[in-house]
Amino acid sequence: MTGAAETDYRRGAWHPEDHFIDGAWTPSIGTGRIDVVDPATGETWGSAPVAAPEDVEAAMRAARRAFDEGPWPRMAPSERAEVLRRFAAEIEARADALSATNTRENGSPVAETAGAAANAAGILRYFAGLAGHLEREDVRPFPSGAGESVVRRDPLGVCALIAPWNFPINLVVIKLAPALLAGNTVVIKPASPTPLSIRHIVEAARAAGVPAGVVNLVTGNGRTGDAMVRHPLVDKVAFTGSTEVGRRIAAACGELLRPVTLELGGKSAAILLDDVDLDAFAGVFVRSCMRNSGQTCYISTRILAPRSRYEEIVARITEVVAGAPQGDPFDPATVFGPVANRAQYESVLAHLASAREEGARFATGGDPLPGPGLFIAPTVLADVAPGMRVAREEIFGPVVTIQPYRTVDEAVGIANSTPFGLGGIVFSADEERAFGIAERVDSGSVGVNFFASNHAAPFGGRHDSGLGVEYGVEGLEQYVSFKSIHRAARR
Ligand code: NAD
Repeated sequence: MTGAAETDYRRGAWHPEDHFIDGAWTPSIGTGRIDVVDPATGETWGSAPVAAPEDVEAAMRAARRAFDEGPWPRMAPSERAEVLRRFAAEIEARADALSATNTRENGSPVAETAGAAANAAGILRYFAGLAGHLEREDVRPFPSGAGESVVRRDPLGVCALIAPWNFPINLVVIKLAPALLAGNTVVIKPASPTPLSIRHIVEAARAAGVPAGVVNLVTGNGRTGDAMVRHPLVDKVAFTGSTEVGRRIAAACGELLRPVTLELGGKSAAILLDDVDLDAFAGVFVRSCMRNSGQTCYISTRILAPRSRYEEIVARITEVVAGAPQGDPFDPATVFGPVANRAQYESVLAHLASAREEGARFATGGDPLPGPGLFIAPTVLADVAPGMRVAREEIFGPVVTIQPYRTVDEAVGIANSTPFGLGGIVFSADEERAFGIAERVDSGSVGVNFFASNHAAPFGGRHDSGLGVEYGVEGLEQYVSFKSIHRAARR
């Protein structure tokens, strides 16, 4: 890989001048740069090129050629699965570089990023295991008896994969793995604050023997993403990011009648029932409600607490949050790192100012720490009323809100009162009771006493949280074009 000035990704500078196009690192025609700033220190330690329209064009043409003429879509799914398994091993071999680059790009603590390679490899192996789903004979008789249909799952073609900055590795790989298994070719664009860690993934793909042109990478900004979404050679768009940008992409894809998957924002609720086991809850609280310094789409940042145990719950959450170490994201003990970038930092501070104006109680935190790092003290806002801005908008920072409720029906009503529908958790000592309430939460995924994404189960948002799903066999089917071949029944 070019441009890695040092192999120590924890300390070195990294200013690559190329995109990955048609199997090779290719000098950027675009001369603009995006800076990569370590949010823990304020140091600008890297940069990446902003693709010119000609760079996007070259990447799209390479992907198109690889799809129309190359071996990848013509290989059997089980042959592609073998390549994905090698790809997984190559990613694991780069675990340290991936973790360090990710942590320096967006401040995610190493306690989080140390698992990024294993998680990415697990996703690739899971989808490799689905090759049989694409290969099996899927023959369906006409209900009338008139004949039968052979159902094929063809690849779609060239897929544009556009990712946000909060999990720059996982949120690309969860698109890449099913797209590749199904036989598509791709052009990836990471978010502008985090353009570097994904280069290790692309390099791993090359080392694994993914043919030239199948995986391409361009770096840039929103304009680059827009050019990809509208590019005439693209057959499918897969996007994770904000609801606002997702709407724009959906509008463009609607006009073009282009398939699109959108994984967008959330404002999920944790409903604590009156029999909640607070010790068990405290043990999973940060992972469930404030993971990655609150910068995780599905976490349940609105805590709904029964009035009968309200002050006890506020006190327990405050104790957990105030006691969790915040600081150097390279320290394995760190739980809360900095906010990932300046724009997000300003946005979180604006939300905290609104909470102050609107009369929320600051149980702990609420203020920025002295710079140069972008640290905001992890914050618990109690006595939050449904109309407050912090109760309605995604904050995407180290902040949770606590709202009281009287009846379970009221709690479910509050949980379902936002335009989003991504995650949610119900906490109770009685799992069956919690399961019954989880069934009433209007979202794509709900946990009972914990939350985690399961590679084998569909994950996606309802309403303003998105369209389509990732993970599971259903996630794979977002990258296929169904084709039914009808014929007379065989005797
Ligand atoms: P963002 O929408 O600002 O940017 C996401 C990506 O889209 C970036 O690569 C950006 O360059 C690109 N982009 C910007 N404008 C574009 C345009 N007009 N056309 C095409 N591409 C464009 O989001 P972000 O700030 O990077 O990420 C945070 C958001 O992502 C949060 O709202 C969070 O909830 C959401 N998110 C959702 C999920 C999920 O699975 N549902 C997961 C993680 C993050």
